[in-house]
Amino acid sequence: MIPYGRQSIDEDDVAAVVDVLEGDWLTQGPHIDDFEAALCTVTGARHAVAFTSGTAALHAAAAVAALGPGSTVATSALSFVASANCARYVGAEIDFIDIDATTLNLDPTAVPDVDALVAVHYAGLPVDLTRLSTRPRVVIEDAAHALGAITPDGPVGNCARSDMCCFSFHPVKTVTTGEGGAVTTNDDDLDHRLRRFRNHGIEPRPDIAAWYYEVVDTGFNFRMTDMQAALGSSQLRRLETFVARRNEIADRYRRLLSDLPVELPPAAPPGTRHAYHLFPVRVANRRQVFEGLRAAGIRAQVHYVPIHHHPVIRSHRSWTLPETDRAYDRLISIPCYPALADHEQDRVVSVLRDLL
Ligand SMILES: *Cc1c(COP(=O)(O)O)cnc(C)c1O
Repeated sequence: MIPYGRQSIDEDDVAAVVDVLEGDWLTQGPHIDDFEAALCTVTGARHAVAFTSGTAALHAAAAVAALGPGSTVATSALSFVASANCARYVGAEIDFIDIDATTLNLDPTAVPDVDALVAVHYAGLPVDLTRLSTRPRVVIEDAAHALGAITPDGPVGNCARSDMCCFSFHPVKTVTTGEGGAVTTNDDDLDHRLRRFRNHGIEPRPDIAAWYYEVVDTGFNFRMTDMQAALGSSQLRRLETFVARRNEIADRYRRLLSDLPVELPPAAPPGTRHAYHLFPVRVANRRQVFEGLRAAGIRAQVHYVPIHHHPVIRSHRSWTLPETDRAYDRLISIPCYPALADHEQDRVVSVLRDLL
């Protein structure tokens, strides 16, 4: 069975986790500080705050940006539901921006008058935030696909053109902590609020007494464990290798699929590095291709059932997003992950060739 994505775990990763298990701290401890410092190094952000998941990271970002009832948050419907749910968790309204059929990202020139934008870097290709038609009060990047991607402004996560940038460390993402996420920001106040939000809204008050603290915000327990952070730091050491390998696989697909009736994903423009979390191709007979690949032991996936199709979202309001729907009808993500061997990739291509 060849999946569409999977983790790469080596002996150093295993040793890093075992080491924590034999130490004093299991939940948030010194490895969290190290992991957050490593995230700052690879992204160039001033602050990184680890969370239990990418979803929790997005929730926290929406909360500390003071979005809530009465505010509207716009995002792309060609994404995982968490990109929109972060608004709903805090009581904000959601709105969707149709995609640009070329980039498959939300069209930055079509941003409506909203309080916040959640810019999803679909498949690992950064949204061009220099082209925003209007800049909402809050810009949050959903970079769950884009750790390791680079824009002309520097690495995704440096928040050069956003307030906060959210990552996921789910096993199919660029690096993994099992479950996990993080928010990066250059803003000291947002950093402080993010840390408080992940720890029940607690503000220590050593000025009153060494034991005293106050709960000043309705926060959550969104703390990552030290085992996860140690795994994350170990994985981050191979970030460059992972992203380079994903780009190599993508280049190889482009060559091997060039004579087939498939629409290849958009390549990164000059000055930009794609992270290739996904390699989403577009085909005319998607159902047949999907089922044919599955029957041959290749677990392709569709990213995504557009968010505005889901009953929980649809029941509020309906949206007309022609480019999103047109892309969805033809999209299929074929295997792309660092451990995918050339002979496995050849097999995917040969099965595809027969199905097309
Ligand atoms: C994976 C993902 C998330 C959520 O991350 P989790 O760590 O699974 O909670 C959010 N947005 C996008 C675009 C994702 O792909």
